[in-house]
Amino acid sequence: MNKHYDYLIVGAGLYGAVFAHEAKKQGKSCLVIDKKNHIAGNIYTYECEGINVHQYGAHIFHTNNKEVWDYVNNFTTFNRYTNSPIANYKGEIYNMPFNMNTFNKMWGVITPQQAKEKIDQQKKDAGITEPKNLEEQAISLVGTDIYEKLINGYTQKQWGRPCKELPSFIIKRLPVRFTYDNNYFNALYQGIPVGGYTKLVENMLSGIEVRLNTDYFDNKAEFDKMADKVVYTGAIDAYFGYSLGELQYRSVRFETETLDIENYQGNAVVNYTDSETPYTRIIEHKHFEFGTQEKTVISREYSAEWKKGDEPYYPVNDDKNSQLYEKYKALADKETNVIFGGRLGEYKYYDMDKVIEVALSVAKNELN
Ligand code: UDP
Repeated sequence: MNKHYDYLIVGAGLYGAVFAHEAKKQGKSCLVIDKKNHIAGNIYTYECEGINVHQYGAHIFHTNNKEVWDYVNNFTTFNRYTNSPIANYKGEIYNMPFNMNTFNKMWGVITPQQAKEKIDQQKKDAGITEPKNLEEQAISLVGTDIYEKLINGYTQKQWGRPCKELPSFIIKRLPVRFTYDNNYFNALYQGIPVGGYTKLVENMLSGIEVRLNTDYFDNKAEFDKMADKVVYTGAIDAYFGYSLGELQYRSVRFETETLDIENYQGNAVVNYTDSETPYTRIIEHKHFEFGTQEKTVISREYSAEWKKGDEPYYPVNDDKNSQLYEKYKALADKETNVIFGGRLGEYKYYDMDKVIEVALSVAKNELN
């Protein structure tokens, strides 16, 4: 007979691992299942030529929450990596996020005052008073030149929709700074786990039973019988058999190559912000850990609309999808024995720190 568990956790990604760890700490028994052949979900890293490759795209841990920072540091050591991507627009190189280096390169301005005047003038010429979408938000933050060269093409490729049809919160993820500071994040704490993210999740799951290559939906009724409660971290619409229609997601395809050279692009992240280059960015993985290997591994990222069978990465939080999500959420609230969590379970553009914050708070409520 199958063992009975307190919790069945569907998905061995960050949310599932944090919840399982907390449950085990409280003496609960957990079974974690994942349809993939590895743990760690989309933060999974594997080693190639001594380099930790972020298989599902670059993940840079950053947070303002000291509790979350202390929590992850219990499981592994983080290095001092600071994300400073550069943008390549048709061969012109700009610093990201938008800061005095960007403004100086774009307009030759030297002082913050000059940069502000330039942006204010462009915002005024565009006639924007109250930004209603990503395009208007972007222009009102950094002006039309930067919008055209560094935002419009990239965003259209990334989301497959015009900037006018996208919510403005997406661009507000990026800081705009009137200092010469290329740090992509405003967070107090930032870094990459030394030796990769898989080790972080492995340590969270230490002593917990994990079954890989195991699809919940192949045998849902049987799995449900195996535990008192389910923590589900997959896509919320998939849970309900897409009965109200499909939520939209963006998927990403990676073309990863090992090159027989030491240093390909001199930076971990280079964004290609024109609309003609088919990929959005190139990641050179070794630079996340200051690698000195003889070879290098790079990944080109191609963004695409998700269709069944693809890997979902980003929820598309526009009005239409948000309304549909609310309907699924109402169904989810009626499932008293199931907790829905994580980027896919809650259909939210969560960063890793937020996933941990929410998982810890849900676990606290649930387990105390
Ligand atoms: N973005 C942009 N140009 C860039 C980088 C980002 O226009 O060079 C916009 C784009 O719309 C993107 C959003 O800012 O989706 C958020 O970027 P972020 O780096 O946070 O995206 P992620 O790393 O989560 O894919």
